[in-house]
Amino acid sequence: MPQKTKNTPMMEQYLAIKEQYPDAFLFYRLGDFYELFNEDAVKAAKILEITLTSRNKNADDPILMCGVPYHAAADYIRTLVEGGYKVAVCEQMEDPKLSKGMVRREVVQVITPGTYIDEKAKESKANNYLAGIIQTAEKGFSLAYSDIGTGELKVTNLENEDAVFNELQTLPFKEVVLEPEHSERFKEQLEKRFNILVSVQKNNRDEEAFASLLADIPDEDSRDVLYLLLSYLSDTQKRSLTHLQRAESYETDQFLKMDTYARRNLELTASLRTQQKKGSLLWMLDETNTAMGGRLLKKWLEKPLINLTDILKRQSKVESFLNHYFERMDISEALTSVYDLERLVARVSLGNVNGRDLIQLKTSLLQIPTLVQAIESIGEPAVWEGTIAKLRSIPEVVELIEKGISDDPPLQIKEGNIIRDGYNEQLDLYRDAMSNGKRWIAMLQMEEREKTGIKTLKIGYNRVFGYYIEITKANLAALPEGRYERKQTLSNAERFVTPELKEKEALILEAEEKSVQLEHELFVAIREEIKGYSRQLQALAKLVAEIDVLQCFAQVSEAYHFTKPALSNADRKLSIKEGRHPVVERVIGKDKFVPNSILMGEDNTILLITGPNMSGKSTFMRQVALIVILAQMGCFVPAEKAELPVFDQIFTRIGAADDLYSGQSTFMVEMVETNQALQFATDNSLILFDEIGRGTATYDGMALAEAILRHIHRTIKGKTLFSTHYHELTQLEADLAGTRNVHVGAIEKDGELVFLHKLMDGPADKSYGLHVAKLAGMPDSLISEAQIILNGLEEEHLHNKTDDAAAADKMEQLALFQESSLSPNEKHVLDAVASLALEDCTPMQMMNLV
Ligand code: ADP
Repeated sequence: MPQKTKNTPMMEQYLAIKEQYPDAFLFYRLGDFYELFNEDAVKAAKILEITLTSRNKNADDPILMCGVPYHAAADYIRTLVEGGYKVAVCEQMEDPKLSKGMVRREVVQVITPGTYIDEKAKESKANNYLAGIIQTAEKGFSLAYSDIGTGELKVTNLENEDAVFNELQTLPFKEVVLEPEHSERFKEQLEKRFNILVSVQKNNRDEEAFASLLADIPDEDSRDVLYLLLSYLSDTQKRSLTHLQRAESYETDQFLKMDTYARRNLELTASLRTQQKKGSLLWMLDETNTAMGGRLLKKWLEKPLINLTDILKRQSKVESFLNHYFERMDISEALTSVYDLERLVARVSLGNVNGRDLIQLKTSLLQIPTLVQAIESIGEPAVWEGTIAKLRSIPEVVELIEKGISDDPPLQIKEGNIIRDGYNEQLDLYRDAMSNGKRWIAMLQMEEREKTGIKTLKIGYNRVFGYYIEITKANLAALPEGRYERKQTLSNAERFVTPELKEKEALILEAEEKSVQLEHELFVAIREEIKGYSRQLQALAKLVAEIDVLQCFAQVSEAYHFTKPALSNADRKLSIKEGRHPVVERVIGKDKFVPNSILMGEDNTILLITGPNMSGKSTFMRQVALIVILAQMGCFVPAEKAELPVFDQIFTRIGAADDLYSGQSTFMVEMVETNQALQFATDNSLILFDEIGRGTATYDGMALAEAILRHIHRTIKGKTLFSTHYHELTQLEADLAGTRNVHVGAIEKDGELVFLHKLMDGPADKSYGLHVAKLAGMPDSLISEAQIILNGLEEEHLHNKTDDAAAADKMEQLALFQESSLSPNEKHVLDAVASLALEDCTPMQMMNLV
């Protein structure tokens, strides 16, 4: 057997380090490059589209490698991390020139999708979340999350897996950390459902290190999961985590619950079609002026409130802003000069700031007095008391930056010119020495010219030779012997130094070096001092973000004629007068949008909506949900008048959004979404069902739709908007108390269909399928043929009816069956459907059932 080549010491070092980071690409620093070896190299070369080469090409076992230049590494790292991978950055820990033997190398940071801070990110209105999840002793879960870019740290306890999955939907999580003990099945589910990186981390439970972060968290499970998350953060970031905010615990039932489907279907933060912000409610609402405000708006949108007092507090602030236009404009304008305080504080703590960041921090803080003044001038202390008590600039920080940092500092922090003159005596001395020295040299040039009589003599500087006296060849003869030492010969000139010049040069260079060094020290000291104000700055950032969102609500409410909804827990009345869908209205224009009203109460909980396709049924249903969400966020709503109960949850089954991730069939998705509502909805919930049963055979669909309606009516009693094209279902109005028919009007004009988009009482009277097909541009010949077939069918139906009235009645009955008159078979179907846990069914089981 051929002997395997022995590894070189460097390869030994590489392998030893790589062994500790099996799940990350190891970027191994070698001179000006980061090198990757073996499988890392093969994979990275493919992803990064760089050349794969090898060391020892001719050996039996060449080592595959590829590399990226260190100065371009950031872009390559971004590509990998955004692709869901981790990168361990391994640096040389000593100067290769000075080290004896192998240069010591260490991994200084592991960059992962959930801990990535993109310094160049334009989209700072988005967060980047990492979650930690543990299973608790009582078979529940605790979930903690953090955005290390802003320092946010939150924790909650959740009952079961469903609740965990739901919570993971509420924020853009990039990575989840589990303990090694957590089940493989759970891990796989997370990966599959969320297309997310799952990392495994030993829980170090470092109580001492994190005592202050956890000071407000007494609950053991919460502490446990925080320790897990913090273990991961400190193991990957390998530096102090002082910029994290104190952990805050929250309850998921503080918020209006919406499951995955509802969030997606209602297009809260992304349009269904494009998955982009444009076309979403967030897009329509976002008039925030700061990045922090933008992020908070998204959070409020994803988690509307359910506590009436809290909602009303926000509402009264929006109203106050609306009533005080000039103060609001002052605030809005000041906010445009506020930079991303949260991120700036985080960077101060991580030691990533440069001089310009500190100037941004100062500029931002200088706006705070304007905010305070504007809010005070509104003069509604009852509304703003809490805000005014907390809204304080931090003059110490402003002063520190003002005194210490020059007005236009460079991006680099190790090149000088960052500290203001007069801030430090020693630095001023160095600077004097430098400028005196330079003046002295300018003088010297004059003196030397006079002394030698050479008019073209000049003194210059370059990095290699330092200061020199340059004399053209033609003038060399005029140079006296002795004092001038030859340094460098050029084609038409010679360069010399003199003892005095050398002496002065040493002084200047020393002063320069020392001043740069001192500037860096002073800068770090200023940074550290500001770090001491982290908590205050974070609190301020939060408050500013809140003011920004509230002014945004006022701004939007004014621009789009929203009104203040009356919210109440007292009765369950839902009344919206002339409501509008804010996004559709914005897109098609206010003039073209037809407002619609709705009235539901204790005695009317189910609205059956009929009408042709494209008439606006689902727009109307969404509009009701969006109005509810806006109201519970504390915003005004697009309606002439709205009286709303506070809902606990919203469920939807709208449209035919295939579940791309799980690859389930459309009908299966439909049933799963429906079942979510049937399982979890309460009488305080809002349920939107659009065309339930459409995805299967007509009678199946109809039977299911009816059974579902009956189930809601019997056991849930939540407010339900149910659109259907099963005309037969409209008969339920007579049978189920509290069910009411409405339809979206359309008229035929000259054989064409005209949508009125207007909600009217009673069921729709006719199916407009053929007209819609015609509108869609189907060939006339096809439409005529369909018309003939339809006429035939209708005639047949008529014929049957006269022939066998009883049979026809039975057809009607199918949609109408009274529970008391159910056949054993029908009853069986009904019971089976009602008791189904559809979510746990495989598609095969579903098929069999059907
Ligand atoms: P349906 O659910 O009945 O098939 P949609 O709600 O999808 O119909 O609406 C179809 C189209 O009609 C929408 O894209 C929208 O442009 C328009 N539309 C819906 N509601 C209104 C309205 N109230 N006013 C004006 N146009 C509307």
